[in-house]
Amino acid sequence: MYLCDVHTHSLISPDSKAPLSAMAQAALSAGLKELCVTDHCDLLDWEGRPDGSFDWAAAKEQYRAVKTDLDGRLTLRLGLELGSAPFDPDMARVVIAGGGEELDFVLGSLHNWIGDQGNIDLYFSKFAGDGALCRKAMDNALSHAWELVTRYPDCYDSLAHVIYPLRYIRRDGMDLPLTDYEEALRAVFTQVAKTGHALEVNTHHGLDMGDWPQLLRWFKESGGELVTVGSDAHRPTDLAKGVPQALWLIKGAGFGYITTFRGRKPVTYPL
Ligand SMILES: [Zn+2]
Ligand SMILES: [Zn+2]
Repeated sequence: MYLCDVHTHSLISPDSKAPLSAMAQAALSAGLKELCVTDHCDLLDWEGRPDGSFDWAAAKEQYRAVKTDLDGRLTLRLGLELGSAPFDPDMARVVIAGGGEELDFVLGSLHNWIGDQGNIDLYFSKFAGDGALCRKAMDNALSHAWELVTRYPDCYDSLAHVIYPLRYIRRDGMDLPLTDYEEALRAVFTQVAKTGHALEVNTHHGLDMGDWPQLLRWFKESGGELVTVGSDAHRPTDLAKGVPQALWLIKGAGFGYITTFRGRKPVTYPL
């Protein structure tokens, strides 16, 4: 199988201290064939303040240096994890344009509430004992996922961690049945498929594997073909965690290939 991890972070992200060289070394040790670095640009910061800054100069300098050092031992791609594009699509397009021709891949993410709870990152919400807030968070995330895939398809290539709120809902000892969101998810997946975009299987360093068989089944039934995989590693020790298992899950759900992106165009590899 084509071992690849196309959701990873480096010190360009505010929540990572890892040089890309260390992530690339970990990728080689894990036997990966392809690594894509997708540092964060969130149009809303952790506290909900608008912020369109991304240091492309530093990101590209680091990427070019590591690519040169690798000398072809590993395919390295330059990506971006763009958060909250529906909050300010014009700014999203400016950020993406800053990547120029070197930009291979854009992950579309929703880390923040939009239009509720002061637009804070879901990480800071307290879900314990508050089922109504849990449901509100899922509704908020899925309605903005719908907005992203229907109105701003140019602002993403692969839809990242579509059930992101569950990370923090479960952290706080709560849960929601995925089946309550089947209709909304199928609608989003149908749109992703129709527009030739990809769905991400996010392993969350191998911690979140259980929901993907169900989600992949719905995506497949919605006409989906392109699936990307990422560990969401923020440090070398987490790199590629859960990726081999995810590839088996994707194959098991009936997909014939895994997808990565080059120059924002999908490239497929048989599973
Ligand atoms: Zn993310
Ligand atoms: Zn991430």
